[in-house]
Amino acid sequence: MPRFSRQDHGLGVVDSPYLVPFDGTFELDHAPTAPPHGAGSDKDLKRDLKGETQGLRELLEPMYANPTWSVLCVFQAMDAAGKDSTIRSVFRHLDPNAVKVFAFKKPSREELDHDFLWRCYRRLPRRGQIGVFNRSHYEDVLVVRVHPQFLGSAKLPQRPPLGDLWKQRYDSIREFERHLFRNGTLVLKFFLNVSADEQRRRFLRRYDRPDKRFKFSTNDVAQRDHWGAYMQAYQDALSETSRAYAPWYAIPADSKPFMRATVASIVRRAVERLEPRFPEPDPETAKEQRKVAERLRDGRG
Ligand code: ATP
Ligand code: MG
Repeated sequence: MPRFSRQDHGLGVVDSPYLVPFDGTFELDHAPTAPPHGAGSDKDLKRDLKGETQGLRELLEPMYANPTWSVLCVFQAMDAAGKDSTIRSVFRHLDPNAVKVFAFKKPSREELDHDFLWRCYRRLPRRGQIGVFNRSHYEDVLVVRVHPQFLGSAKLPQRPPLGDLWKQRYDSIREFERHLFRNGTLVLKFFLNVSADEQRRRFLRRYDRPDKRFKFSTNDVAQRDHWGAYMQAYQDALSETSRAYAPWYAIPADSKPFMRATVASIVRRAVERLEPRFPEPDPETAKEQRKVAERLRDGRG
């Protein structure tokens, strides 16, 4: 049984200047995209990242061996903010049995024939695992809000006025995530907050490097015309759905080493709060194990 009481509603809430408040006062305009002064050199940050992922690996062993909690890490960001590489650097050294990464793309016909949470439900981690969502159910209040024509393909039987529709979706998301928490899934959400200028530089770098040009998408660049609308959608989604049971962290993304070390530290500290422990056998099993081990030692087994 997950050890959980009402006070534990903040298990995923760790001390961080990037935690999005739960009272709707979040202002994306004031959220930094650059690391703070004194954040440390890239070399220091890489060392910090290594320490954090090592710590996470040690915590994940008992968590996987004694499956009660699961952890869901959601990543959302504008293109080129570094979702893929952050996910790679934070989770790659972990036991692949214990970590499941899934990248959500444009919904398929089958996915559109269900409610918007259905496809996410199917990819949730099992107890003992960390699940990583590269994009998520939040796309349905982000890209779909910026381009409401996508709603057409979902064939909803009734469509309330758009303002109400997004509110209803925030409601559904809050209920979904609260339900997950109550049933033993710790939900941590990361918005990788890159500036428009840094995105421009990264797009150009992609174009200029022959080995990266395949990633240069004219559609990604076209989304820059909607930057303001995306920021409004992020601002609303984050303030409407950052709650103690499923907190958002808005991480400065203009420096990749800082972003990676910061995400790793938050995940490690949140998992630590679950206090994972290796399972203890019941007394009967322990006795039996002792007997069998002694026989092995004596060369009788
Ligand atoms: P990369 O480009 O690094 O491979 P990506 O996550 O950008 O990763 P793409 O295949 O380029 O992957 O893009 C997926 C696209 O699908 C994004 O533009 C995203 O906004 C879109 N998308 C995801 N979910 C939905 C949704 N529910 N409705 C409409 N579009 C969606
Ligand atoms: Mg893309």
